[in-house]
Amino acid sequence: MKKRIIALIMTIFCGLSICACGSENTVAKASGSHELIHEGKLVVGTNAAFPPFEYIGDDGKPDGFDIALIKAIGDELGLEVEIQDMEFDSLVASIGSKIDVSIAGMTITEERKNAVDFSDSYYDAVQYVLVPNGSEIKGYDDLKGKKIGSQMGTTGDFISEDIKAEDDSTTISTYDKALDAVNDLVNGRVDAVILDKNPAEVFAGQYDEVVALDGNDFGFEPEKYAIALSKGNTELGGKINGALKTLKENGTYDELIKKYIEAE
Ligand code: GLN
Repeated sequence: MKKRIIALIMTIFCGLSICACGSENTVAKASGSHELIHEGKLVVGTNAAFPPFEYIGDDGKPDGFDIALIKAIGDELGLEVEIQDMEFDSLVASIGSKIDVSIAGMTITEERKNAVDFSDSYYDAVQYVLVPNGSEIKGYDDLKGKKIGSQMGTTGDFISEDIKAEDDSTTISTYDKALDAVNDLVNGRVDAVILDKNPAEVFAGQYDEVVALDGNDFGFEPEKYAIALSKGNTELGGKINGALKTLKENGTYDELIKKYIEAE
């Protein structure tokens, strides 16, 4: 009888310790698995309609400065990089579930910082204004009461909402892709498109009917691009920042700027 009780107590004790051990493992795994969705792989979201940062190359695959930069970061970290092309407006919500990080010419904003963490910035930008040749739009106040196009969920979209808040006769049209907004500008459906400097210059180069105006003349705030990742994923954030630093120091970053941006 006594032996049985001891055996029972031992069984319970062992069971408890296995349980305790098991739960510890689960906690450790949970915080570790937060780092990457698939071990050894960095799943990257982008919106490949934003040249020269991301676009679909001649081989039908995403290419551009951001894509080359994240692949170089993947190489530094020994991670295979998988690119997923999606709507810009879905990127932030997909981080941590469908994708590990996004690289999409994404500006660091206070609002986005509530949902995601950002790496160190890798590029300085500003919004530009695309208008048809000969447009009377030259400064911020000229945009009031006009039809303004922008890409949905972008800082250009937020500026057009500010303008509408100041003058309710302003009309806002938002598009999934910056290129769709530019097409509506070319077709005369909107009077101006607010979008980031480099894509604005690329589109102005592609369409003779439009010119790109410097957003500094409109008083737009400077913006900084960064890679977005899950909030609190400091381990991955630290690794990405380390890789960025190495790529800046070893000249890779400058080479990519020359290849993709200065050659625009
Ligand atoms: N820089 C802008 C933003 O973050 C636009 C980015 C984009 O359209 N890919 O909102």
